Amino acid sequence: MQKIILTGDRPTGKLHLGHYVGSLKNRVKLQDSNEFDEVYLMIADSQALTDNFDNPQKIRDNVLEVALFYLACGIDPKKTTIFIQSQVPALTELTFYYMNLVTVARLMRNPTVKSEIKLRGFEESIPSGFLNYPVSQTADITAFDATLVPVGEDQLPMLEQAKEIVHSFNRIYGETLVEPNSYLPENALARRLPSIDGKNKMSKSLGNCIYLDDSDEEISKKVMQMYTDPNHIKVSDPGKVEGNVVFTYLDIFSTPEDFQKYLPEYHNLDELKEHYAQGGLGDVVIKKFLIKVLIDVIKPIRERKEELIKNIDYVYKVLEDGVKKANEKANKTLKRVKSAMKIDYFDDNKFLEEIKNKFN
Ligand code: ATP
Ligand code: MG
Repeated sequence: MQKIILTGDRPTGKLHLGHYVGSLKNRVKLQDSNEFDEVYLMIADSQALTDNFDNPQKIRDNVLEVALFYLACGIDPKKTTIFIQSQVPALTELTFYYMNLVTVARLMRNPTVKSEIKLRGFEESIPSGFLNYPVSQTADITAFDATLVPVGEDQLPMLEQAKEIVHSFNRIYGETLVEPNSYLPENALARRLPSIDGKNKMSKSLGNCIYLDDSDEEISKKVMQMYTDPNHIKVSDPGKVEGNVVFTYLDIFSTPEDFQKYLPEYHNLDELKEHYAQGGLGDVVIKKFLIKVLIDVIKPIRERKEELIKNIDYVYKVLEDGVKKANEKANKTLKRVKSAMKIDYFDDNKFLEEIKNKFN
């Protein structure tokens, strides 16, 4: 069986550190491993419209933004096909057929959908398009025969739902669709990067993010506002490491080299944590260290993005070519699906023969 990757992001805003550690970093790693036959990366504009249908300009504006971030983070269009969801009609068609295979009750039980409905205040009037977005995600994944889907933790219920739909489809119509598997970051903390206030996951819709093109000043400002331990008032007070957002970020982003470079008094993060827990280590020290660590992650991405902006024609062409390739692949799957569902009337002579036999 071929090894194929598909993932994507909603063009609802700039990409942030959560995307980077939750999925983007893994996508670049997997792309460069050369272990995969095909890699697809989708800008999920149709899905973004399910809860932003009244603001199409926002989605349109962010399509290019997301593409710029992909390229700036190291996605290579020679290895990865970047495309825009709405420009691949087969995906919409597949969604329609898969909708028969899932109940409204099951969609309402999806924990991510549940919390997103609450967040968006949809409780009393859920747009049916929004409720169905897990089905459309199944269409995206299966259209490309994806075997692996690198995602953050919030997407696991979507993958479960996709597997269920694949099983139902194959049971009813015969073995047609490929079952996907999720791929999570190794570091469990990176699977759901918290926002700077520690209350939620970092998310575009909540506007609580450190973006991948923030200036050094913006990064500093946001880190200085980060939630630490409210009971750690004096430097001499013992501090709590668990639930302390600065330490969560250090766990994810800092390396032993960062300590050598910026905080040589400590060999590693464990020593820093120990000192903090004992007391005698102030928040400003750990925050200043984190600022340097994050600038080292974000600055190269920001600078590459600035370079790419000077060459927008190139980025546009990448998307145009990607859409072409994505259509070729998805149309093949759609053909397979329609044949399994017996709605392939004009693909060959079978239907004609059947009706002739019936009436002759
Ligand atoms: P929105 O608020 O519009 O839903 P988002 O910030 O949740 O935006 P998505 O486009 O929905 O971003 O998610 C794209 C990918 O990034 C998914 O694989 C998702 O799991 C991952 N991701 C998003 N936020 C985080 C986070 N805070 N930590 C880890 N992974 C994340
Ligand atoms: Mg999301």
